[in-house]
Amino acid sequence: MRRGRRAADRAGAAEGLFTGGRVLVAHASLTARRLGLQPPARSPDVMDVLELFAFVRPARFCAPSPTGLALGLGLAEPKSVEAQAERLHEAATLLLKELAAPAYPGREEAYALALTLERAGWAWGAAAVRALERGGVRQRQHRGAGLDVWSRLTEWEDEAPRGEAGSAPVDSESARIRLDKLLQASGLDETRPTQSDYAAEAAFAFSPRNEEGRPRVLLAEAGTGTGKTLGYLAPASLWAERNQGAAWVSTYTRALQRQIDRESGAVWPDPAERRKKAVIRKGRENYLCVLNLQDMVQAAQLGNGDLIGLALAGRWAIHSRDGDMTGGDFPGWLPSLFAVAPSQQAGPANLVDRRGECVHAACPHYRACFVEKTIRASRKADLVIANHALVLTQAAFDGARSARGQKQDGETAALKRSSSTRATTCSTPPTAPFPPASRARRRPSCAAGSAGRKGAAAAGAAWSSVSAT
Ligand code: SF4
Repeated sequence: MRRGRRAADRAGAAEGLFTGGRVLVAHASLTARRLGLQPPARSPDVMDVLELFAFVRPARFCAPSPTGLALGLGLAEPKSVEAQAERLHEAATLLLKELAAPAYPGREEAYALALTLERAGWAWGAAAVRALERGGVRQRQHRGAGLDVWSRLTEWEDEAPRGEAGSAPVDSESARIRLDKLLQASGLDETRPTQSDYAAEAAFAFSPRNEEGRPRVLLAEAGTGTGKTLGYLAPASLWAERNQGAAWVSTYTRALQRQIDRESGAVWPDPAERRKKAVIRKGRENYLCVLNLQDMVQAAQLGNGDLIGLALAGRWAIHSRDGDMTGGDFPGWLPSLFAVAPSQQAGPANLVDRRGECVHAACPHYRACFVEKTIRASRKADLVIANHALVLTQAAFDGARSARGQKQDGETAALKRSSSTRATTCSTPPTAPFPPASRARRRPSCAAGSAGRKGAAAAGAAWSSVSAT
């Protein structure tokens, strides 16, 4: 009975703290719900450290909790609720210190934005402005309010096409040797005979065809824990190197795309090189539409929208690897920290091109468009990590174009040449031979090869499927 009263007193005290004045939190709306309160509207009194993290370290990962913040910032993991509260304070102090460091990158631009957000009532506005001033800023260096990220995004350049990929084969022994190197690069020195055999067998798919119209097809099955990803990345990366082409890997889920990307770090340990060599491709409805962002920011400047959330999303856009809002480096928690109307949230639902409204070359941001940049980056990559929906719809479009006697686009032409090499391996017997039609979104899907439910890969002048788990 006494224990129940103590718990009720503590909950009342926590509620009083949350609503009674300035308070530090990590994820304001989640904290409110735990206290049985409505998610709070933005207020200078509710200082969400996650927002400060998004401002100071845009496009960097941290889990949305005091522990996540502590670990993301290299602080000791808090083991009690009291330690969590202390760590939250330390996290905020550390982030402001980082902002105040003279070497903090892009400080003029950050300063212009912090001033704007301070005027807009951002809880961290004044602290961020003071921190940046401590590190030294020339106050009139950056024109404007810092909100016009669309004018500062890098643009893609027209480049000569890469040319036809070669047709040098990859033999089993080379695949095994490459796999050993990849395992060493990953810090794994154990040799697993089954994984080595898998890589050696997968090499068959990368050998040139003997007969036109009869691609190399390999069906392989291996259980969880075999190490299939490195098993097929070994021959695929060798093929790309020897033939100056792109090996396409297609998988079923976005999480698997990211996993394969992470594992490709064994092939290209230098992150800058990996960004060029390995490109993730998804449907366009996953990427930030810069025109949508501009529209929403301008509406918010007139009082119709969440200017603070949009400004933080804009800061992410400048630093993002590829503008991917669903599973990329966009902090998924950002739109949900405060009670903001769904139509005004700075999240994927409002900022990606979901309704097919893209105006392509007529768009003023066409040359800074993330979708266009990703398509062009994949033309120069060694490894393109795609998903079944994208690969199959691309092939379907190409088939439709061919049927109408129209020219194929360069990318699908490469896939079509694929017929020279074609492989399929699957980790588990496919329960459904192709991704569900709903995954193909607005475009028609098509059946090509015997892609398993979980994975498919294609190789440059080739198109093959390899599983991923
Ligand atoms: S080209 Fe299309 S997707 Fe890209 S920014 Fe413009 S409208 Fe958005």
